[in-house]
Amino acid sequence: MDRRYVPEPYKIKVVEPIAVTTRDERDRFIAEAGYNTFLLRSDQCTIDLLTDSGTTAMSDNQWAGMMLGDEAYAGSRNFLHLQEVVRTYYGFRHIVPTHQGRGAENLLSMIMIKPGDYVPGNMYFTTTRAHQERNGATFVDVIVDEAHDPQIELPFKGNIDLAKLERLIAEVGAGRIPYLCLAVTVNLAGGQPVSMANMRAVYRLCAAHGIKVMYDATRCIENAYFIKMREEGYAEASIAAILKEMMSYADGCTMSGKKDCLVNIGGFLCMNDDDLYQKASELVVLFEGMPSYGGLAGRDMEAMARGIVESVDYNYVHHRVTQCRYLADRLDEAGIPVVKPTGGHAVFIDAKAFLPHIPQDRFPAQTLAAELYVEAGVRAMERGIVSAGRNRETGDHHRPKLELVRLTIPRRVYTYAHLDTVAEACIALHRRRDTIRGLEMVYEPKVLRFFTARFQPLAGPTKVKARPTAQLVELAG
Ligand SMILES: *Cc1c(COP(=O)(O)O)cnc(C)c1O
Repeated sequence: MDRRYVPEPYKIKVVEPIAVTTRDERDRFIAEAGYNTFLLRSDQCTIDLLTDSGTTAMSDNQWAGMMLGDEAYAGSRNFLHLQEVVRTYYGFRHIVPTHQGRGAENLLSMIMIKPGDYVPGNMYFTTTRAHQERNGATFVDVIVDEAHDPQIELPFKGNIDLAKLERLIAEVGAGRIPYLCLAVTVNLAGGQPVSMANMRAVYRLCAAHGIKVMYDATRCIENAYFIKMREEGYAEASIAAILKEMMSYADGCTMSGKKDCLVNIGGFLCMNDDDLYQKASELVVLFEGMPSYGGLAGRDMEAMARGIVESVDYNYVHHRVTQCRYLADRLDEAGIPVVKPTGGHAVFIDAKAFLPHIPQDRFPAQTLAAELYVEAGVRAMERGIVSAGRNRETGDHHRPKLELVRLTIPRRVYTYAHLDTVAEACIALHRRRDTIRGLEMVYEPKVLRFFTARFQPLAGPTKVKARPTAQLVELAG
């Protein structure tokens, strides 16, 4: 593709004003938030790249569908529509709606896992692994080694290493592996896709051992796009045809509709097996609601059904993935270290390489995210030592190899001018990177600390002084 800009395949009908703030205000806001972007208020952010989850802009057609919500307790026509659309585009026989992806993960883990089981997967995702472990399984990472290296350029860095999978089967026995969880694309590897050839091979190998294959289909549309662009034999295939073939190499899937189904809330669990469906529909009543609504309003199911149809439009996904690549290319050209190749939903800055003078215990990625907010009101997320937490036995920090700042692009929300603003802010920070100092943690929650931990700048010529907060006073006292 020669053009760097892909014109938006939509025009703007409704606008939502965003905050325009001064640097002095942002200095104050980030100090009040304890230098943690999770603790900023949304109305303090000019460009919010915290996540692509549930942040999608819905279409006029989806909003119109919301007015056709059939809020009957059972047998809503919107459920029937959703069921028909999922059968058409994903190809599974049974669908159980859930309030979001983790609701589906909860049901799947409960109906398939026995204590002592193993669940292999291509890198973990936080909620997916938590549900597997909660039900007594051990997660085993069987992704290709290259996925852990931010600088290796491979077209399908999310692939499963079949040798690792075979080794696990030989070690623990197929009887203790109820299913393999294949994520398409791999979020924690930077949105890296899985090839069709790999899906086919994994499915064959698992079928030969009686192991089911369940996809984490959260970003399956972006994965289908990468197959079309990169895998031999698919250049002419439609996104819908690729999606259908991908799903034919699985026995079912969990889905977070908040990502590739283009809605703000919703999810589902699919399977072909009648017996598993029976079990899932018994449990969904306990955790989500009737099997015909699973924690969703009729209008939400209608929006998701319509979102699925829109998601397989090539122009939509081409624009989306190109936006990510555009931002990454602008940073790369300016000498800013980014994870390669660029995935489908975000750009990851390598904070260790950006701020080599800040040791990992001084939280380089957390520091960079805070500085980026002060620079231009851009909210990003730390994915490094703070997110990794502490080792339960030694009490020391986990020190992950990757110390990243994630700039996540919401679907259909921002324009290229917004992305230019983000790129220019990163470039300005990079020019004055030597002046950036690290942080120290002054409040640390015991679990999932990245959400609410508080920091203050290390002593030095940093402009902002943290004022004592309630937590600081508590710690001091
Ligand atoms: C977001 C996400 C989930 C969980 O979905 P929720 O809708 O947030 O509950 C599962 N897997 C992946 C890869 C995700 O990105």
